Amino acid sequence: MTISLLTPTENVSSPVIESLSLKELSEKTSSDYLKRNFMCKVKVKNVEQSDSWWYNGCHKSKCNEEVSKLEGKYRCFKCTRNYPLPQKKYRIIVLAEDETEAFNIVLLDRAARRLIGKTATKLIAEGISVCHIV
Ligand SMILES: [Zn+2]
Repeated sequence: MTISLLTPTENVSSPVIESLSLKELSEKTSSDYLKRNFMCKVKVKNVEQSDSWWYNGCHKSKCNEEVSKLEGKYRCFKCTRNYPLPQKKYRIIVLAEDETEAFNIVLLDRAARRLIGKTATKLIAEGISVCHIV
């Protein structure tokens, strides 16, 4: 499987996105580069087996914050908004490689949703219904 990842953020609004190998990316450590977007073409070699492949997130699609339960509501401190229920979002750790390097990469909600083709909420709901059949 070959996927394209944007790093370090998922912001695609910048007009020019530089294409880098993972080795080149690993060498770009200055704070100037940390705010920029790059495109890396990688192959997913392995998916970390973990119970915490999703988290209770903020409802805003561009916000990847985890919400905190506060007085019966869920609060995103970044957006300073409360929600009656959290939005379940993906946070999947995969081992990704190209011909130069291999890295553990976190697939945040939008990237994971695009690969899997459904939301974390839907996948969790389907998983529960499968358990009921068995
Ligand atoms: Zn938020």
